Amino acid sequence: MARRRSAARPGVTGLGEREELAPGVLINSNYRGCTPGMVYTDDGIILIDAPLIPRQALDWRSQIEEEYPGSPFLYLINTDHHRGHALGNQYFMPCTVIAHERAHKEMAGYTENFKERVRNSFRREPEIQAQLNDIEIIPPDLTFTDRATLLFGGRRLELIFVGGHTPATSLVWLPEERICFVGDILWVDQHPYMAQGDTLQWLDALQLIRDLDAKYLVPGHGPVCDASATYRVEEYIRFMRRRVRDYYLEGKNKNETKSGLVGEMVEWFPIPPERKAKIESQIKSGLNRVYREMQREEEDPPSGSDDDDMTPDDDDPMGVEPEPVADAAT
Ligand SMILES: [Zn+2]
Repeated sequence: MARRRSAARPGVTGLGEREELAPGVLINSNYRGCTPGMVYTDDGIILIDAPLIPRQALDWRSQIEEEYPGSPFLYLINTDHHRGHALGNQYFMPCTVIAHERAHKEMAGYTENFKERVRNSFRREPEIQAQLNDIEIIPPDLTFTDRATLLFGGRRLELIFVGGHTPATSLVWLPEERICFVGDILWVDQHPYMAQGDTLQWLDALQLIRDLDAKYLVPGHGPVCDASATYRVEEYIRFMRRRVRDYYLEGKNKNETKSGLVGEMVEWFPIPPERKAKIESQIKSGLNRVYREMQREEEDPPSGSDDDDMTPDDDDPMGVEPEPVADAAT
């Protein structure tokens, strides 16, 4: 790859090491709430997701500029519309943002209330909260629905809509490098965020990821992994579906199901004590969502049901993503 300032790698800043997964394909898994990536092409840089904490977004930008001085940012792909993927878009301008059309729909509706919720989620960290006074939402300029391919400067990036985690969730697949950015379909040692989920679609997405036979998978949060990480998420989702179905068929209502099953679900992944309440509420949102799926599946409703519903369930009405993980590397 041309135009690199130095061959030294991985680069290190105060915010940790970036990793080079293949020549010109870099990620940084040290930021909170986001593992951003970038692909160098002879025409410019293509970014995948953007850190939500402004100083970390700027750090990522400067790491890229240090590595590839003078290379313009061509595109920024958001794998979904949640804050850990799309809130930092503003720090990579000028650049064309690409995402699924449902991500556009959702982001176009982000209000002052949403920004306030994001700020409030950092109320115990005033130093970060103060950085979030000037949130500017930059929805995608370019959208797609099923698939799209970017061919620039000798690279091929395939955007593949999978849904599952949200109705907008999409993968970024580099078939030549065999690297896939899987967004929030994959969670390693963390509870998946399911409040906007569609679990059958999610299970299909996990299979699709396995079928890619990728060398590296880059989750939306946390460190790089491989296809073996798909099985635990699949078991988690299947277990939740089975248990919610049991409760539903026993005639339990939604609230009984949520409070009855949260204890079984928390066992699946480690939870730091200070995040217990938040994660339990997140799990309940997922249970709520799956309960509605069971209602639909068991009652076999006429077409036109709300299975494409973008509205997250009531525990998390704004669809704000999970609290950023303090130490994303663990
Ligand atoms: Zn997400």
